[in-house]
Amino acid sequence: MEVPFRHIRNDFPILQEKVYGKELIYLDNAATTQKPKVVVEAIEQGYYKTNANIHRGVHYLSMRATEAHESARACVARFLNASDPAEIVFTRGTTEAINLVASSFGEAFCNEGDVILCSEMEHHSNIVPWQLLCQRKKLQLKVIPILDNGDLDRQALRAMLTSEVRLLAITHVSNVLGTINPVKEIIRLAHEHNIAVLIDGAQAVPHVKVDVLDLDADFYAFSGHKMYGPAGIGVLYGKRKWLDQMPPYQGGGEMIAQVHFSGSTWNELPYKFEAGTPDFIGSTALAKAIEYVEHLDMDAIARYETDLMHYATDALLQLGDVRIFGTSVHKSAVISFQLGNIHPFDVGTLLDRMGLALRTGHHCAQPLMDRFGIEGTIRASFAVYNVPEEVDVLITALKRIRTMF
Ligand code: PMP
Repeated sequence: MEVPFRHIRNDFPILQEKVYGKELIYLDNAATTQKPKVVVEAIEQGYYKTNANIHRGVHYLSMRATEAHESARACVARFLNASDPAEIVFTRGTTEAINLVASSFGEAFCNEGDVILCSEMEHHSNIVPWQLLCQRKKLQLKVIPILDNGDLDRQALRAMLTSEVRLLAITHVSNVLGTINPVKEIIRLAHEHNIAVLIDGAQAVPHVKVDVLDLDADFYAFSGHKMYGPAGIGVLYGKRKWLDQMPPYQGGGEMIAQVHFSGSTWNELPYKFEAGTPDFIGSTALAKAIEYVEHLDMDAIARYETDLMHYATDALLQLGDVRIFGTSVHKSAVISFQLGNIHPFDVGTLLDRMGLALRTGHHCAQPLMDRFGIEGTIRASFAVYNVPEEVDVLITALKRIRTMF
């Protein structure tokens, strides 16, 4: 297969590292991706040259740090095709973004007896915040089932879009099955019933082009660290019409207009949702990561990663006793599997000793494991810097492991 991105491996120094004296083969990209030099250098330069608290200072460094942070926001807005940078709220990551919506949207728009919908393939961070909201406001959380191949059950979805539903929270791409949900169509259907939709984009943004206006998403969340950026910074995109009506999520500096003991008023968007000092170095480094993937071209990344995923799927299936979970035709670069009857943890531990970093376990999707009646899987997840030779090493390693049992 063609490998258009082989040259970029030099941008990621960690890929030259050895583990236990073996070449590192990093196939745990759905957990977090490695960072290109431009991102690490942006963090270093930020602290060396422009470190000062933002928004509050009139001095030179503070103004430069503020400019960098706000231009990062504009960069994210452009990347997601949001109509206004004020609709981009910086958070710590996807988890915090979803908690923000569950808390604030829930406070403003949900009442006893209302329903929140999610799906069977959600990550815990798109389940538990809704469970907490449901407990707090006496709502019901209903779950859209999936089919055996890992596709969402669209018939069930249609039947569940009723007038009691206030919000549908669904992942764009499953971190276990790789399924790419038809979110544009899902949002259109939900909107026919005046249901707001939150998309968990944690596994989509690094792999497919996202256009929030075209999707007509009400909320879209993602994490910097899964898309070649730093940990500790993420994004909530929210339509102004919702964000304007939602109460603040946290109180503190910067989110206020006026504070008096007689009462306080809130800052304009997006600052109303950004209490305290944000990760202004992280935002700048995230913008570098965005520029990096834009330069490679998101469509070319998606094509290559799909080819690599098919290459790996074919090779795994040739082993004979591999069971793959998630066989949708609309699939991103994640493969969850089991090898014979060998416990995934044993496979993962032995792979580690051979230099291969794969994830094993429930992948923060225990309800999905329940759905398939399993405890866990081994997961290979790919990024743009992975190459077919790494898949070949994985297959050889799995063959070796098989002989040990
Ligand atoms: N949603 C999905 C689909 C994920 O894969 C993850 C991370 N594994 C999250 C949400 C949570 O992301 P974070 O831990 O960066 O907040």
